[in-house]
Amino acid sequence: MKVEPKIREFICTTAHPEGCREYVRRQIAYVRSQERKKGRKQEPKKVLVIGASTGYGLASRITAGFGCGAATIGIMFEKPSNGKRTATPGWYNTAAYEEEAQKAGLYAKSINGDAFSKAVKEETIALIKRDWGKADMVIYSLAAPRRTDTQGKTWVSALKTTGKPFTEKSMDLRNHTIVTKTVEPAAEEEVEGTKKVMGGEDWLDWIKALKVADVLEDNALTVAYSYIGPRLTYPIYYDGTIGQAKRHLEKTARVIREEFPDVRALISVNKALVTQASAAIPIVPLYFAVLYGVMKEAHTHEGCIEQMVRLFREKLLEENPPTDEAGRIRMDDWELEEHIQSRVWEIWEQVTTENVENLADIQGYWEDFYHMFGFGFENVDYEKDVEIEIGIPSIN
Ligand code: NAD
Repeated sequence: MKVEPKIREFICTTAHPEGCREYVRRQIAYVRSQERKKGRKQEPKKVLVIGASTGYGLASRITAGFGCGAATIGIMFEKPSNGKRTATPGWYNTAAYEEEAQKAGLYAKSINGDAFSKAVKEETIALIKRDWGKADMVIYSLAAPRRTDTQGKTWVSALKTTGKPFTEKSMDLRNHTIVTKTVEPAAEEEVEGTKKVMGGEDWLDWIKALKVADVLEDNALTVAYSYIGPRLTYPIYYDGTIGQAKRHLEKTARVIREEFPDVRALISVNKALVTQASAAIPIVPLYFAVLYGVMKEAHTHEGCIEQMVRLFREKLLEENPPTDEAGRIRMDDWELEEHIQSRVWEIWEQVTTENVENLADIQGYWEDFYHMFGFGFENVDYEKDVEIEIGIPSIN
């Protein structure tokens, strides 16, 4: 079947299997092109990645596997093809990751299911016991719209402000017009729901379950990803519902360290990047496009894979990872540099429908967007019929 992108505002409902393979291969090639840091005492060998199929989690898995030679187990929530509809991109990415890992002689297995559930935790523990004995690193990179907790209650996350409405410029992704968007404040239960889904409760549940089952090495490392961003987006992000959840996640790192002193729990605050999760946040896509332009001009722009390679290389695997005063690793350091943000703000104030194509990197935004779904690679023949029912070696 010939596969074309079908875009609905911030989501694409199709994915190209060959393009997703190219997306993964390029990330692997980038990791391989980076020199391995010599003399490092601690490199992870058995890494569990929760949320491993797209965005930061996929880039983390590729960095652990191809950068450190680690065996990986990846957890994800993706849909295979039904023969008529394509699979989700994370499905194809994972198939490609496993194929490439196999060629490179790297262990890679994947579990497709709800990471919030007890069943997936148990399945993961059984697999670790059987194949590894113990894991030495756990990366928590989930971005989900809802979670059913262990009591069976389903919580839904919201992307809203807390307190008062927030009105800002925004870009209509259908036609690149600059519009004004108002985001309404969340009801209390929406704040609670977002904390339940995107906060740290499930991260703690995972670590507890792994510890109780005795499948974590002493001194194992666990890291979860957060975002803060500039003041410009505080009302919708850091002070909004999602920010409340991130504060909870950040606190959970401390809770894990206190409850399990031999687990090194860290937060890495990552850079703003177009991913399936972040493209859905109101106002933020215009910020991405402006930021991309400014950071590319300053030669400091990074994608998920460049961020994760720098995280592993410069920060996470150091004996004493460099952190801010709140104990967080800051991978948003370049994004938040004063000269970057003052330029972003200057552009933000000027940007209109007429000049947005010149002032913001709209092309860069869409390039990242299309790539996430396996489209827009010049070396993939999109005119060709492709097999869409692709299996993942460790699942089928
Ligand atoms: P993403 O949408 O690309 O990835 C989400 C992953 O979670 C996928 O692998 C998906 O399959 C998996 N997943 C979702 N629900 C699941 C479930 N119920 N069970 C199992 N797996 C499930 O998102 P992303 O942007 O890479 O986000 C990952 C983390 O990084 C999030 O915590 C996010 O807040 C954080 N982060 C993102 C940005 C950004 O700008 N994208 C910046 C900083 C931090």
